Amino acid sequence: MTSVMAARREQSVPRYTSYPTAPHFTPAVTADLYGKWIQELDPSRPLSLYLHVPFCQEMCWYCGCHTKVVARHDPVARYAAALRAEIALLADLLPGRFSISHIHWGGGTPTMLSAEDFSVIMNDLRLRFDITETAELAVEIDPRSIDAEKIVALAVAGINRASLGVQDFSPDVQQAINRLQSFELTKQVTDDLRAAGIDKINFDLMYGLPRQTERDILHTIDLAHSLGPDRMALFGYAHVPWMKSHMKMIREEELPDSDARYRQAQQATERLLDLGYRQIGLDHFARDDDAMVVALDAGRLKRNFQGYTVDDAAALIGIGASAIGRLPQGYIQNAVSVRSYAELVLAGRLPIARGIAMTEDDRLRAQVIERLMCDFEVDLQAIARSFERAIDYFAPEIAALAPFTEEGLLHFDGNRLKVLPEGRLLVRTICAVFDSYLAGGTAQHSKAV
Ligand code: SF4
Repeated sequence: MTSVMAARREQSVPRYTSYPTAPHFTPAVTADLYGKWIQELDPSRPLSLYLHVPFCQEMCWYCGCHTKVVARHDPVARYAAALRAEIALLADLLPGRFSISHIHWGGGTPTMLSAEDFSVIMNDLRLRFDITETAELAVEIDPRSIDAEKIVALAVAGINRASLGVQDFSPDVQQAINRLQSFELTKQVTDDLRAAGIDKINFDLMYGLPRQTERDILHTIDLAHSLGPDRMALFGYAHVPWMKSHMKMIREEELPDSDARYRQAQQATERLLDLGYRQIGLDHFARDDDAMVVALDAGRLKRNFQGYTVDDAAALIGIGASAIGRLPQGYIQNAVSVRSYAELVLAGRLPIARGIAMTEDDRLRAQVIERLMCDFEVDLQAIARSFERAIDYFAPEIAALAPFTEEGLLHFDGNRLKVLPEGRLLVRTICAVFDSYLAGGTAQHSKAV
């Protein structure tokens, strides 16, 4: 490995689940502006909803999500009331009755809501919107905090996809990340979900965890595969203790170094491919018959805050504290603090904290970055032309990418950029070249690999 390559792996770069990325959102996007954007939405186009539940039973030390640990149920019940208030507020503001093609419950742990609250909120959504027959209704699940009653409530509410947090099955790694979750428990919950009719199952795995070895990650993949998931996601642990103080509980000397992380990522990818999964973008893997594979082959794969998606709704509305939405006009993030969020919605106000209105340059760069992240290639000429520009618009970026081309990580034929297999793990670094906010920002991101 060259020292240039090693330096690139260490470089901190965004995950590009949006462009512009969240650190560049500002309070210039107000509740009034968001309200105006909502009223401009086209009722003939379906919407996608993201609902955030920022509570967990226990803190996993690797966690990068907006969540907090609660010992009692009262705050969760009060939060459920705030979610209902926000849904009513949004539905009243929208210019008509909209259909919904995707609902994603994330967190935190959505199943911290009681079975009753979950059912009531799903009923609210059905009363206020038309959920399409083919809609994907997905929920993130912590197998340690779900019971039979909640699984039934999910199924009755129409949930058809469940993403289970797994990370690594090694007890030693689990101890080092404060997440004890046996294979037997994961299997039991997977079986129970399928028995209830929720048969689209995703598992989330991680590499780069403390005490984790290549053997651990390969063994975890084999065990996970034995349960027959439709999709697996493989994320690199991002150690950012200056942003998430609980990460200080992770002993840095137990973290794999850059070389070991790279080998883990490579070997895990190879094992997943050997097992017959297709790679979707940087970190998702799916069975050949999966909708993501179909979207990938058709050039329709998308990227949003949940990672890769087949969701092509014109607008994604974020509901809940810290939730991020994407409208044709720009991005919006709700207040991060549960208290501020609840106070605002219960007072009948849109709980917006910040956002960004997209410029034409943002849209153009967003397309380049999304195609690179999804397809590992992009037709710069076609994108420039669709914005009535010449390909010279990208001359500075093309020049900046010359070293990648010389190192065999990238191929450029004068119109199309193609990330070569050796460059795939560095795709975020390649995207960063097109990010016009990065140079001026102070945000710290995770390592490229
Ligand atoms: S269960 Fe998920 S959201 Fe909650 S602390 Fe663990 S990783 Fe974070």
